[in-house]
Amino acid sequence: MKNQKLKILIIVSAAAFIIYTLIHRLQNPPMAAVESSNKLVMNTIAKIIAVAPDENTAQTSINAAFDEVYRLEKLMNRFDPNSQLSMVSRLAGKEPVKVDKDLFDILHQAIYYSKLTDGAFDITVGPLVDLWKKCAEANSMPTEQQLADIKKIVGYEKIILDSNNLTVRLAADGMKLDLGGIAKGFAADKAQEIMKKSGAIGGLVDLGGQIGCFGKTQSGDKWIIGIRNPSKKESNEIIMKLALTDMSASTSGNYERFYKIAGRQFSHIFNVRTEKSADMISSDTIICPNGTQSDALSTAVNVMGVEKGLALIEKIENTEAVIIPIKDKTELIKSKHAEQFIIK
Ligand code: ADP
Ligand code: MG
Repeated sequence: MKNQKLKILIIVSAAAFIIYTLIHRLQNPPMAAVESSNKLVMNTIAKIIAVAPDENTAQTSINAAFDEVYRLEKLMNRFDPNSQLSMVSRLAGKEPVKVDKDLFDILHQAIYYSKLTDGAFDITVGPLVDLWKKCAEANSMPTEQQLADIKKIVGYEKIILDSNNLTVRLAADGMKLDLGGIAKGFAADKAQEIMKKSGAIGGLVDLGGQIGCFGKTQSGDKWIIGIRNPSKKESNEIIMKLALTDMSASTSGNYERFYKIAGRQFSHIFNVRTEKSADMISSDTIICPNGTQSDALSTAVNVMGVEKGLALIEKIENTEAVIIPIKDKTELIKSKHAEQFIIK
């Protein structure tokens, strides 16, 4: 009798255990994670991680995401004479150009961020970038005359969009659009959309430090992102770690890409109004749900400087900033709610 009871108890416990395990499995099915190799795209090194119910789905979603980034690069690369963007610049001052919806969208958003940042973000920066590059090669500062000439062909107000016909017209001959401050964010957003459609339930897209992530890691945690210390660029030291999910983080700094003239270093980010290179912020990281926004705003805040930049970020919903000023590179200046993302 006693034996019989014990048997029943064992059977009931075993059944309960199996049911519990099955339910747990159903609720938390095992996930596969695939990490891509480093790939060169958009003039930077890109890496994508996908988490999906199986390895095949994870790999497929990575492939689809890279295809999307390559497609957008082809459309928006100003150094490729065959890109639509180059065509728009080539016909500056002449005629409107019909463009793909994605290019139209990014131009539309770029103008929105120009208005939001009072011109600190401005994709008409192309001729200014080219001038400083030429000056760096010749090791001589730009002349007053060169700067005065460029003044006439910069300014986002000179981009004319027609949303009915999806055309773009640049008002002045010689204008050149440069999407370097926004394209990676836009592409990271699009890549994540494609990954989700391909069945990934978590993912991280890293386009040279332009990060976008969704869902969780394979182990069910948030994605951990390291931000490099601008004053220790040789050692790749991490100054701050962020834990993110369904967020984008963009960093703009003057420590990786810059021009050197007569021993002085000039940032690759310019204030289109003053025609000078940005020199107030060593690095700034913007965290918000949208990659296009974090990318554009990180470039803009770098131009605006600590005070004005931070004041702008505080006004924008769901958007946080961590700024390292040029003056004191050990200081981290944070917007009101930035702390929630920082784990170190
Ligand atoms: P990174 O390219 O290193 O990610 P950013 O997102 O800040 O950094 O983009 C910097 C690039 O944006 C520059 O290399 C240039 O092509 C372009 N750019 C420079 N100044 C501006 C500006 N004021 N507004 C918009 N784009 C800019
Ligand atoms: Mg940017």
